[in-house]
Amino acid sequence: MNKIEHIGIAVKSIDNSNDLFKKLFGEPNYKTESVESEGVKTSFFKVGNNKIELLEATNEESPIAKFIAKKGEGIHHIAFDVDDIEAEVKRLKAEGFVILNETPKKGADNKLVVFLHPKATNGVLIELCQEIVLNE
Ligand code: ZN
Repeated sequence: MNKIEHIGIAVKSIDNSNDLFKKLFGEPNYKTESVESEGVKTSFFKVGNNKIELLEATNEESPIAKFIAKKGEGIHHIAFDVDDIEAEVKRLKAEGFVILNETPKKGADNKLVVFLHPKATNGVLIELCQEIVLNE
């Protein structure tokens, strides 16, 4: 794994939280993006070399809606950048981690993503992400 790619924060309202985090960081978000398959709307902020992803549920079945209902707003996941997501899935599976989606799926911000079940990672939802390289 290369580095923390971003930290995901579950929020009830992206609009309200965009204002809040803009005040906190002194800079507005640089993009918003919906991932319909996941039922989420996302907003990204840059803080130096780091990124913060805000996530709002777009429907009641969304994992974010369920997370907020259970735990309230707050840190939802930590995402790590990897070079070869399939190799990492294989390696982590062999180490006994529980992979939520073994086939990487398209996430926000032009990434292939895989999530590890928090029950095998001390309660922390871990996201692996690999940048999708577009060959034109
Ligand atoms: Zn994320």
